[in-house]
Amino acid sequence: MAKLYFRYGAMNSGKSTNLLQAAFNYEERGQQVLLAKPLIDTKGNTDIVSRLGVTRPVDFVVGHDESFFEVFNRERNALELRTGKPLSCLLVDEAQFLTESQVDDLLRIAIIENIPVLAYGIRTDFQTVAFPGSRRLLEISHSLEELKTICRCGKKAVFNTRKVDGVFVFDGDQVAIEDGVEVVYESLCGACYLKESGGVFNRSRRVLVEPLATAYNSAPDADFA
Ligand SMILES: [Zn+2]
Repeated sequence: MAKLYFRYGAMNSGKSTNLLQAAFNYEERGQQVLLAKPLIDTKGNTDIVSRLGVTRPVDFVVGHDESFFEVFNRERNALELRTGKPLSCLLVDEAQFLTESQVDDLLRIAIIENIPVLAYGIRTDFQTVAFPGSRRLLEISHSLEELKTICRCGKKAVFNTRKVDGVFVFDGDQVAIEDGVEVVYESLCGACYLKESGGVFNRSRRVLVEPLATAYNSAPDADFA
């Protein structure tokens, strides 16, 4: 049986580079892959961009309301008809932006279609809260693998911080959509994150469905209050 793999890390941990390398490894052996990502915005960015300079277009994008399973099977059938060769692997970039049911579909693709699925994504947002897709992937993937990167202090970076026009910010939407300002992210270790955030994790919000909403609040963690 094929497996669902979740390779997660902070920003700049080389996820796209790893994905493109994995695709290359399959293709070098004459095997076929499909590259996909969720439709994140209306800008229509359908490339996978490695920080090392390699860029490759995805084979398909999946909209927020679409069934990943259906879109995948359509694309897979088209590919296999066109080439006469079977698909060997599905690779998904920016998997943190998938919905929970789309992640369930990734598991179905591995189990029912017997296609290995490599999903790459950021574990948590700039407020240290899991993205919906990443949370589901952490729950149900067969295999979890952390891709590591280094904090400015030399320790392993695990959190992402957001800078707007050069200033750290800890409030705002999960995905920054401000126009006209420069938004960048810096990956930090826990200690450096706390130093910049004033001792606060999970700063302002956690999207939850009732009745779990009472399980968390927006106050600082007790240890750092
Ligand atoms: Zn650090």
